[in-house]
Amino acid sequence: MKTKNFLLFLALLCVLCACGENKSLRSIYVMDSVATLQIYPQNEELVDEMCGKLYEIDRELSAYDGDIKNINDSSGGELKVHSGHLLNGSLVLSEKTGGAFSPVLGTVIELWGIGEKNAVPKQDELARAMSTSKLENVEIADGCVSLKNGVRLNFGAVAKGYASEVLREMLVKNGVSGAVISLGGNVYVHGRKPDGSGWNVALRDPQGSPNDWFGSMHLTDRFVISSGDYERYFEKDGKRFHHIIDPETGSPAESDLTSVTVICEDGLLGDAYSTALYVMGRDAALSFWRKEHGFELVLVGRDGRVTLTEGIAGSFIPNESRGYIYEVENR
Ligand code: ADP
Ligand code: MG
Repeated sequence: MKTKNFLLFLALLCVLCACGENKSLRSIYVMDSVATLQIYPQNEELVDEMCGKLYEIDRELSAYDGDIKNINDSSGGELKVHSGHLLNGSLVLSEKTGGAFSPVLGTVIELWGIGEKNAVPKQDELARAMSTSKLENVEIADGCVSLKNGVRLNFGAVAKGYASEVLREMLVKNGVSGAVISLGGNVYVHGRKPDGSGWNVALRDPQGSPNDWFGSMHLTDRFVISSGDYERYFEKDGKRFHHIIDPETGSPAESDLTSVTVICEDGLLGDAYSTALYVMGRDAALSFWRKEHGFELVLVGRDGRVTLTEGIAGSFIPNESRGYIYEVENR
């Protein structure tokens, strides 16, 4: 396990829960992050099955060493259960977000190699990568995808949200009474604790050290999915180059936000939106929230303001010691 990622996990979202109960608790390294599964009452068999499912999803969806890499390298191939579902869902969500979330940025993302190469690409290389990164270069027919003009798929922005959605279905099918699933920055809280109460999910302060949090929410049966410029980045000449790409420029998005948290009942949608709304910035994200339904937002701005949408404000407990100004946005 990579220590950096483990620390990142600890920092991203800290789920406060009752200890010493009759539960199963397991952490594994998968999908380039730490996954922690916590289930009440104890059910080791189900946890084994869920871990197996996460490895299976990773093998299919990874653009670095999974089936998606092979599909990208071969300019197409057969879609399996997860990749087919995710590609179709991603095309819909990309259109919904006006392209701010895009599953066809593979060439650009690999060129930047944030967290690996950490070098700013040359302008002509970036222009070439951008010219291939278009939805029209993707065709789906008879369970296969074909990729034209060098376009490459990348599901990095949605794979964990999709995976947590799959795990949620397993919890429901098995009648689990309470669970917390955490995949990197994505949390799903399910049912109730043995004492009948819901869960507290703390949100990491993007300006602070990994263990600082700016607020927490009391809720259940919800996905809590965060994206921000503090998760994966490098710094050069005083500038931060982070891993959320603006599909219009091909470079890290210059957002007025430092983190976006989406609270919703659909893991795939929440993960696509957390990335897209970071790219959009505060005003466009709030307009999007007014237009679309089925999710709530916690936005942290560079100006020190935390904006809560009205549907989550009642469950949110601010951590006043972090110095933010908290405000509520109504529909
Ligand atoms: P994390 O994976 O850390 O939770 P995100 O869900 O925001 O964070 O996803 C960021 C990842 O998604 C990047 O590492 C990259 O692989 C990919 N990506 C970056 N920008 C975009 C974008 N605008 N649309 C779709 N995918 C993106
Ligand atoms: Mg995302």
